[in-house]
Amino acid sequence: MIQIEHLSVAYQQTLALEDLSLTIQGPTILGILGPNGAGKSTLIKAMLGLLPHSGKVLLDQQDLGQVLQRVAYVEQKSAIDFHFPITVRECVSLGLYPHLSIFKRKSKEDLQKVENAMKLVNLLDLADRQIGQLSGGQFQRVLIARCLVQEAEVIFLDEPFAGIDSVSEDIIMQTLKTLKKEGKTILIVHHDLSKVPAYFDQVLLLHRKLIAFGKTEETFTKENLHAAYGHELFIGGGVG
Ligand code: ADP
Ligand code: MG
Repeated sequence: MIQIEHLSVAYQQTLALEDLSLTIQGPTILGILGPNGAGKSTLIKAMLGLLPHSGKVLLDQQDLGQVLQRVAYVEQKSAIDFHFPITVRECVSLGLYPHLSIFKRKSKEDLQKVENAMKLVNLLDLADRQIGQLSGGQFQRVLIARCLVQEAEVIFLDEPFAGIDSVSEDIIMQTLKTLKKEGKTILIVHHDLSKVPAYFDQVLLLHRKLIAFGKTEETFTKENLHAAYGHELFIGGGVG
């Protein structure tokens, strides 16, 4: 269970998040939605303790920032260095390090975890390729595989589907649904509203303040979307 209590974040002049309080019961796949600049990335970073904030974020009653070994995070793509010279297999192996010292030899079991994760996201054929030589969707699958290897209980993904191919998107979404069945809690910042009912058990609508939070059927409504997006809202139908 994740509890957010009176969470606020201010950058120099901007109050980016104002007094959020909510409780997330897992396992679940939660979509974090809101217009550009709504504070979605800020929310994730503050929850992880990566930004100064006021208020509290607890994972099973402990300060989430103090139990980061239970958590995996894939930041928004623009923030990641694609050109670091390592292979797909090496990059996925980095997920082992929350548990291992860099200097410890990887066990057979660890190596098998890496192979299994690559298989799950359909990357075995590309295992020896440099990550700089991947498409955006393939690279995003590498990052998901790295999360799998980490065996975290809570997974934060910031716009994992932005600009990627639909095959990769489907593979990733199927993988995340499997993880949820295994008991994980997955928080996804997302902007394509047409996929929301198919992807998320719960949604959180944000616009600096918490607009709405709850089961997708009850929360992903025209009224709430309007409150979050205002006149920026444009959807090709399908929203109840
Ligand atoms: P989202 O992810 O929903 O698009 P962000 O969380 O990135 O929004 O940003 C929320 C608000 O905070 C925006 O107004 C943005 O300009 C501002 N902001 C984000 N990062 C910084 C920063 N490092 N310094 C100052 N302002 C920032
Ligand atoms: Mg963002």
